[in-house]
Amino acid sequence: MIFSRRRGRGVEPRIFRISKTSTADPCYRLPLSGFVLFFCASLFAQSPFQFPTANHFLYVRGDDLKFFAPTAPDKPWTSGSFGCVRDDGTRIHEGLDIRHLQADKRGEPADPVMATADGMVVYINTKPSLSNYGNYIVIRHVVEGLEIYSVYAHLSAIRPGLKTGELVKGGEVIATMGRTSNAETIDKWRAHVHFELNVLVNDNFAAWFKTASPGERNDHGEWNGQNLNGLDPRQILLAEHNPVRKFSLLDFIRSQRELCRVLVRATNFPYVKRYSALVLKNPVAEKEGVAGYEIALNYNGVAFALMPRAASEIKGAAKFQLLSVNEAEARADSCRKLVVQRGGHWTLGNEGLRELELLTYR
Ligand SMILES: [Zn+2]
Repeated sequence: MIFSRRRGRGVEPRIFRISKTSTADPCYRLPLSGFVLFFCASLFAQSPFQFPTANHFLYVRGDDLKFFAPTAPDKPWTSGSFGCVRDDGTRIHEGLDIRHLQADKRGEPADPVMATADGMVVYINTKPSLSNYGNYIVIRHVVEGLEIYSVYAHLSAIRPGLKTGELVKGGEVIATMGRTSNAETIDKWRAHVHFELNVLVNDNFAAWFKTASPGERNDHGEWNGQNLNGLDPRQILLAEHNPVRKFSLLDFIRSQRELCRVLVRATNFPYVKRYSALVLKNPVAEKEGVAGYEIALNYNGVAFALMPRAASEIKGAAKFQLLSVNEAEARADSCRKLVVQRGGHWTLGNEGLRELELLTYR
């Protein structure tokens, strides 16, 4: 058992079992050949998410540096992947930096950027000075009843005429790759699209941000990166490529590695409705009424399982209680510091508390 239980109540292993996705995959990263590409592509024509550019080198064993743009020439490809990969592992990178394949006469990236799946354009930022994403687009997708939000950042140009509210098809060109950002200089050699797949935390983000970060600017309403919690697109694209096991986004999210479990004394917050597929059954709460939720979080703060709890099942009056910590995960992926050790005990860190305040804000 890998849980260290900080407070009393027992864990329900049947419900919160941690499972691992199989990596056995005959098409996974084979040497490139026309037949193999055709064979694999035809098997996965129905996969919900597509690559956002023509760069598919993720599927070629040993070619990671042709797919990912690392942060410096001497850094490994992993610095351009998802996770605790920045600043020597102390900072999260919530997407993939996918290298350019094409350049114009001036050496500027020229790759068309495509929608990863059918969806609706919900946000276009055309003021690069207002975001470290530079020019970026957010698209909402509904996959297996789950709302997923893709982000395409550092764009040089948005497709002329593309508007918020427009429906797009997976594979449809939406922009041209670029190097825009208000925070970092992206050299030509590492030009890339920064690509994310996220859950949306709270519709009321803008109002919450005003109270949580007084005096700070939010130029992007609910489409602020802080309100979009990233899943690992590399894992998703690789899992979709597995011919043995059909990809399910719901299964993928439900099988996230658990960082911790928390009890929140809050109900009817937007996430519960938006991600009702992640809400588990509890006959006691159904009978007596829901007084709170026991929530499993991954290391990036994605709430991937929510168990309704009745008042009779909740001990203590605190708004947020840390119930358990998966210590191995807390040590392996610690950059967000959602839980921290103080005086030999695990506790919710400031970032963890902030994440829960946003999640449950109404
Ligand atoms: Zn990036």
